[in-house]
Amino acid sequence: MRVGILGGGQLGRMIALAGYPLGITTTVLEPASESSAAQVCARIQGDFDDYRALYQLASVSDVITYEFENVPVESVRWLAERLPTYPSAEALETAQDRILEKQFFANLEIPVPPFAAVDTRDDFDTAIERIGLPAVLKTRRFGYDGKGQEVLRTVADAERAWEHLGGRPLILEGFVAFDRELSLIAVRSTVGEIICYPLVQNTHEAGMLRLTLAPAPNLSPGLQQEAERYAKLTLQRLNYVGVLAIEFFESKGRLSVNEMAPRVHNSGHWSIEGSETSQFENHIRAILGWKLGATTCRGVSAMWNLIGDVPHAGQIVTVNGAKLHLYGKSSRPNRKVGHITICGVDESERDERLIRLREVMP
Ligand code: AMP
Repeated sequence: MRVGILGGGQLGRMIALAGYPLGITTTVLEPASESSAAQVCARIQGDFDDYRALYQLASVSDVITYEFENVPVESVRWLAERLPTYPSAEALETAQDRILEKQFFANLEIPVPPFAAVDTRDDFDTAIERIGLPAVLKTRRFGYDGKGQEVLRTVADAERAWEHLGGRPLILEGFVAFDRELSLIAVRSTVGEIICYPLVQNTHEAGMLRLTLAPAPNLSPGLQQEAERYAKLTLQRLNYVGVLAIEFFESKGRLSVNEMAPRVHNSGHWSIEGSETSQFENHIRAILGWKLGATTCRGVSAMWNLIGDVPHAGQIVTVNGAKLHLYGKSSRPNRKVGHITICGVDESERDERLIRLREVMP
């Protein structure tokens, strides 16, 4: 089978690598000359709205998917008219716009923070009055890794945030005083089979994911079932196919949804070594309509993102249980250049290895 992927970053690379032993050939469409995925699979260089490039991708693929949620919905729709393309344009459209996304969850009675659309200064003032401070002002579209958003604690913060972000379609959200951030990777196949991975705990630094603990430690009873119920409602309502990531806030033992990503997700990278079946393999199985693989954990895992500097591989592998994944990128500030998964039979073994890893890191 031949899989075509819109986007040639590290997520495309890890999908291609998962497909390789299964006899799947992968082609990515990527506009940039540097492409992490193109080092391990075929590549077409072109823009995501270049229909000649899309046609070329379609002609070498049996099924299309994407690894980047800012691809144009129109391109996904165009491809879907010609060959199986997953997740659907509708799922992509919902996930691209924070207002549509929050309304979608609210309609399913899935808890989300209070929110309001903000287009004008008047909308902004009314939204602050209704939601109160602290609050978070975000761009409706194209935000990632904490970019395009500001926390408002005071009226002065609100003025400053408006100066920075005003004039674009925005959303104001109530600030959630969360105890921690969790995420769930869920998968639905073309035949409607659904499976979920265990909830994981995510720690961010400067808006970027730094550490994922899998499974999330000390989960209160019922939380996994609650998250899975929300995921199933979402997958079924969208008639979704592929991997979906849902990011949650946990506050006082309850979940609310921050956002979803219609693709394989950074908080699922641990599953390459830490699960019976990786999120990448399950994404491929889902879009091909194959049986999904078990999501049982192999011990416990931690995933540490490498941001900025590429470490010396020879040094990382001195740590027992450390599995290094470099993305073939050069060092650059704030760039995800790889990740390391640390596995252990239990939390104490994993955490000892994590301490050792931090000692050998530059
Ligand atoms: P996002 O781009 O929406 O994933 O936001 C990036 C990070 O900002 C999240 O991982 C949270 O740490 C924080 N954040 C986003 N929205 C809120 C909110 N409504 N309340 C508190 N923190 C938030």
